[in-house]
Amino acid sequence: MLLMRVRFAPSPTGQLHVGNARTALFNWLLARGQQGTFILRIEDTDFERSTKASEQAILEDLRWMGLQWDEGVEVGGPFPPYRQTERMRSYVDHMNRLLTEGKGYYCFCAEATLDAHRQSQLAAGLPPKYAGTCRNIPLEEARRRKAGGERAVVRLRVPEGRNVTFNDIVRGDVTFHTDVIGDPVLVRSDGIPAYNYAVVIDDALMKVTHVIRGEDHISNTPRQILLYEAFDYQQPRFAHLSLVMGPDHAPLSKRHGATSVKEFRDKGYLPEALVNYLALIGWSPGQNEELLPADELARRFRLENVSHASGVFDEDKLAWVNRHYLKACEPARLATLAERFLRDRGQIVGDLSAAARHWLVAVLPAMAQSVDRLPQLADRLESVFRQDVTTEAIEPALVTALAEELAAAPRMTATEQFRVVANRVKDRTGLKGKNLFHPIRVILTGAHVGPELDLIVPAIDTAADLGAASGLAPVMGCRERAAAVAGRR
Ligand code: GLU
Repeated sequence: MLLMRVRFAPSPTGQLHVGNARTALFNWLLARGQQGTFILRIEDTDFERSTKASEQAILEDLRWMGLQWDEGVEVGGPFPPYRQTERMRSYVDHMNRLLTEGKGYYCFCAEATLDAHRQSQLAAGLPPKYAGTCRNIPLEEARRRKAGGERAVVRLRVPEGRNVTFNDIVRGDVTFHTDVIGDPVLVRSDGIPAYNYAVVIDDALMKVTHVIRGEDHISNTPRQILLYEAFDYQQPRFAHLSLVMGPDHAPLSKRHGATSVKEFRDKGYLPEALVNYLALIGWSPGQNEELLPADELARRFRLENVSHASGVFDEDKLAWVNRHYLKACEPARLATLAERFLRDRGQIVGDLSAAARHWLVAVLPAMAQSVDRLPQLADRLESVFRQDVTTEAIEPALVTALAEELAAAPRMTATEQFRVVANRVKDRTGLKGKNLFHPIRVILTGAHVGPELDLIVPAIDTAADLGAASGLAPVMGCRERAAAVAGRR
């Protein structure tokens, strides 16, 4: 059996867009589910727009999502190199082959001439197509002109009057007529290979069996198939995935808000949530199940079941998925993930001591039961780090009783200690239930709502004990909070 070889081939011209991340994911799911190979190739021949920084950012995002590649940049493999700018030798060899065999030819047409022709065709309501002016220049003559300093591109000689058909795994049979395909430029006059040309050589030499990419490439595919024919290379299967849309059904773009993996990462989504959610756009694992780990998604994934209708990116649904993974997150990992967001809020200000880390690991899981995104953990911790005291009208007898009982009690580092104090205040004031606990909450946390007092009170007092060297921002203990409120009146 021929093992499946798939690839993701990003152009490093910016951040990884979630639509492209989904393309990478579908390739990865297929490779993982079918014991295939997932290749990562960098298509960096657009010198003006490609940057190393973007390449690094894309690799980092893929790794963050857990989409590790089996072959490609940084990891190597049997068909190196995996960066197009390092494969120029191969593009030149293939170009010479096409020229010698008469399947490609030099074209000397000036940009201005091509432009004028394009404009007149558009004006006549025709699809713009190269006129074929240079098709019949003999190769020897073309070589002389080039040697004499004339600039030339290399074009593919597209056979006339036939159909190019391929069976797209997602979309079924797709046919283009060659009469609408003008002879495409394969190599620019500065020697830079065009996308359609380099991609075929690379996919063929890397023995890619399935090309899975965005629908925006579908009109490139017939040109690529003609190149496979010209080189007599084995054609891969093709699958074109619908684009990811915004709520208005236009392709997801900046206009809609966050679009890159980096942005969703910075908003506090977990990688497994983004992966799980992206898999659900245009595909379903079936059995009414949606929340599944990546290996299970891979086990169930079939390209045949991917919808050809476009999918809408729904951030509310992503948040719902994220909520699930936050609840399930292992405590130590949760603390590590949350750290940068707590730093952003000034809740962590230095290197965390072991005790402070222990505190976070103990406190965060309860808070993570009801949040959508990591920064909301900082919202939940706000009452721990409050520095002001309440100015609300609270019954003086209760304020006094609470302040006195707290002054006499040890720090309430466990729930039981809080219960003891609360009972004494209850006995002294005769208040109970909501009438007792609501004002206590306001005095100790400065808020009307928040995490359960049984959780937050020990969290506050434990943090207050950690002191300045903990790496946490200063925390005022419950005793000091009550005393400050009492002192106010
Ligand atoms: N570099 C192309 C892109 O990022 C790759 C397209 C393909 O997968 O063939 O759109």
